[in-house]
Amino acid sequence: MKHVLIIGAGGVGHVVAHKCAMVPETFGTITLASRTVSKCEAIATSVKERTGRDIATRQIDADNVAETTALLEELKPDLLLNVALPYQDLPLMDACLAAGVDYLDTANYEPPHEAKFEYSHQWAYQDRFVEKDLSALLGSGFDPGVTGVFTAYALKHHFSEIHTLDIVDVNGGDHGHAFATNFNPEINIREVTAPCRHWENGEFVETPAMSEHQSFTCPEEVGTYEIYRMYHEELESIAKHIPTIKRAQFWMSFSPNYLKHLEVLQNVGMTRIDPVTYNGQEIIPLQFLKAVLPNPGDLGERTKGRTCIGNIMTGLDKEGKETALYIYNICDHEECFAEVGSQAISYTTGVPAMIGAKQMLSGEWRKPGVWNIEQHDPDAFMADLNEHGLPWTMKVLSMEQAKALTPA
Ligand code: NDP
Repeated sequence: MKHVLIIGAGGVGHVVAHKCAMVPETFGTITLASRTVSKCEAIATSVKERTGRDIATRQIDADNVAETTALLEELKPDLLLNVALPYQDLPLMDACLAAGVDYLDTANYEPPHEAKFEYSHQWAYQDRFVEKDLSALLGSGFDPGVTGVFTAYALKHHFSEIHTLDIVDVNGGDHGHAFATNFNPEINIREVTAPCRHWENGEFVETPAMSEHQSFTCPEEVGTYEIYRMYHEELESIAKHIPTIKRAQFWMSFSPNYLKHLEVLQNVGMTRIDPVTYNGQEIIPLQFLKAVLPNPGDLGERTKGRTCIGNIMTGLDKEGKETALYIYNICDHEECFAEVGSQAISYTTGVPAMIGAKQMLSGEWRKPGVWNIEQHDPDAFMADLNEHGLPWTMKVLSMEQAKALTPA
């Protein structure tokens, strides 16, 4: 039985802790550490109530490499599961290297004052992880995460070559607030206000944020939503690792109300990530905005509706004929809340983080080096999605159906 150290006690950390506790045969010991230990303790109480299991809690500043290294040396976990913020990725990878512990995260490293969303910083750790015989899994959430596994699964079982990939992320949930984000507001707003980039014929093409959009009808009566093309980090790794892809795009649904608020916040400067001086003190406007917005971890109780996230892919099948495939998951906010006390965005991130950790701890995905999820064999992960709360559906489409879904 293995010991996992989870870092980060926000919306996603809440789900990961519960889901790991529900798989005792893999996660024999669980420690949850974060900046604010009271949040870890609240999660531990909920885990005990829901699963009967005890998890240990610790306070940690994950930006401090020496502090994290000392904690790792004391606890000797088999894996560090990072669900703090993207700013902590590199310090936590450094601590893992120093203490000899495997690493997993759900979002790529972000420098605090730049919105870059690129893997270069973490890919640069490849040789150091190999030299220490350690393994790192990058991006084991839903997107990135499950979207990469769906792509790898489609390539393994259906396609000989994938030519186009459209990832469509629809959140049909309603939380009743005038404006709130579904996960950490700072990261979410950075992502949606960044210029759009999509992969086309061997390079990224940049277009203004939110300039391309279309109507999308989800399967299983989830509804029809306006989806907007935006950059998302898995486009970089999937385009690199599956080089037959000629065009890769990411689409996300936003309500007119969300976009109206975002436009105003942007116009007045509240989404800036450079420091400004206020009353003699330096503040980052976006961090201040986070402090006044609803906490995404608290949205679960009031969110109704479903998410629908999946990949629409076209290419050649194993016989060389044109083919198209749609693989998706539909997740119900209220069912997630009933199971673990969280809304579906935290749930759809936390479950794949647990499953990725399970593959690493079983040894199946434990290769020395730094890996993106689509580089691993997808089969066991896909089976675990069905078993642990994120069942998926795969539909073979005609080329006409695929084009109708993604006309841009
Ligand atoms: P939250 O803001 O809710 O939680 C982040 C947690 O990290 C908080 O508990 C916070 O502590 C803690 N933390 C921040 N800085 C430090 C630090 N220096 N040391 C220790 N702990 C720290 O975020 P979410 O749970 O919504 O998101 C977690 C991660 O998941 C993010 O990286 C996000 O980008 C990623 N994500 C990935 C998705 C995917 O599909 N791949 C989708 C959604 C999110 P405190 O409580 O004190 O603030």
